[in-house]
Amino acid sequence: MGISAEEFAMIQDSVDRLLDDIAPVGEVERWDREDSLPRALVERMAGVGLCGIAIPAEFGGLGLGDRETLAVIRRIARRSTALASLYIASVSYAGANILHLGSAAQKAALLPLVAEGKLLFALGLSEPNVGADLASVETRAELDGEEIVINGAKRWCTGADYSDYIYALVRSGGVENRRRNLSFVLVPTDSPGISMTKVETMGMRGPSTNDVRFDDVRVPRDNVMGGFAMWNRAWEQLAGPTLEIEKLQPVAMAIGIGEAAVEEAWAYSQERVQFGTRICGHQSVRHMLAEVQTGLQACKLMLDHSLDLIDRGEASSVQTSMTKLFVADGVVEIVLKCQRILGAYGYAQGFAMERLVRDALVLPIFGGSSAIQKGNIANLLKLPKG
Ligand SMILES: Cc1cc2nc3c(=O)[nH]c(=O)nc-3n(C[C@H](O)[C@H](O)[C@H](O)COP(=O)(O)OP(=O)(O)OC[C@H]3O[C@@H](n4cnc5c(N)ncnc54)[C@H](O)[C@@H]3O)c2cc1C
Repeated sequence: MGISAEEFAMIQDSVDRLLDDIAPVGEVERWDREDSLPRALVERMAGVGLCGIAIPAEFGGLGLGDRETLAVIRRIARRSTALASLYIASVSYAGANILHLGSAAQKAALLPLVAEGKLLFALGLSEPNVGADLASVETRAELDGEEIVINGAKRWCTGADYSDYIYALVRSGGVENRRRNLSFVLVPTDSPGISMTKVETMGMRGPSTNDVRFDDVRVPRDNVMGGFAMWNRAWEQLAGPTLEIEKLQPVAMAIGIGEAAVEEAWAYSQERVQFGTRICGHQSVRHMLAEVQTGLQACKLMLDHSLDLIDRGEASSVQTSMTKLFVADGVVEIVLKCQRILGAYGYAQGFAMERLVRDALVLPIFGGSSAIQKGNIANLLKLPKG
């Protein structure tokens, strides 16, 4: 369901008002410094309808769509990637996955909790030996009567420490055919047998990322995403309707980071005076600012075009991969250029720029690396392999 430009502007206004209240600059800096942020912020976002933005009204949401969700992610990331990550754990890892892949019982039980800001998922895909090659997942799940027993380890499980469930990709049968015998299981984070160790990262700090171990963790077999009928069918779910939007979430976050960097550099260039003139008067600085504005505009158009294709139900895989590649690499360039405009102040704590640089550097690494997207694009466009 679409909304009018006026309604959309109202959503953005309410996001901005909320951010002024819950994410002032001092708090954003503290979340980054301490690598933690309060989970209660999710309920504040839910309080103005943001967590239920794409959840149908029958489950307590606003019944809007992916375009609106991504617009909110972008707006929040412009202020704080930590808060945007928390939001994604609610609306996307939990909300979108349950909405698109959940059984009727899971939707009825869990979607209202998402809309109320009371349910967060952490994404459990990566493992010590598993990065891009998800079909090689080693964490094992075995059936024992009505229960599933899980053993293994997940890595980079962001927000596992404050989430309710780990949305875990597990090996639920033999490895004969790599893509078969994989399942998605909802593992409550307070289950006996789960242990976690925090991993320090240079950026994206706030929602800390974790190594998670499963030692004989038992969950009911109904905890398979989509119900037990989806046991051994995770690959269909991974490659299903959520994949396209999953590629675009880091894109929305990236554009928010890029916007914040450009705004800071644009403003700074009009304050800093060197050689008797504001530095925005020096041609090389003007050119850099023109370049970053142009790059940012191109990123926004790439995202819009991907969303247009998805909205029209047209094939979008090539475009979403191109968008992830272009925006992730592009925003790194944009942010580094903005940092140069701030000179030494872009390298020091106290300005947002230093944090934005650290946050931006992960964009081509996660959510499908730039190299993986290039492979996807060439393959999808059927370029012969030799
Ligand atoms: C801050 C942060 C948060 C994260 N949060 C989560 C999370 O919540 N849940 C989760 O499951 N994971 C998470 N990840 C992991 C992230 O999704 C992985 O980084 C990603 O899956 C890639 O795995 P890898 O980094 O181990 O790289 P690898 O897959 O080991 O790749 C290493 C290098 O080889 C290249 N490469 C690999 N395969 C190919 C190929 N076929 N063709 C060309 N090049 C290739 C890659 O591009 C990369 O340059 C997070 C990572 C970070 C840094």
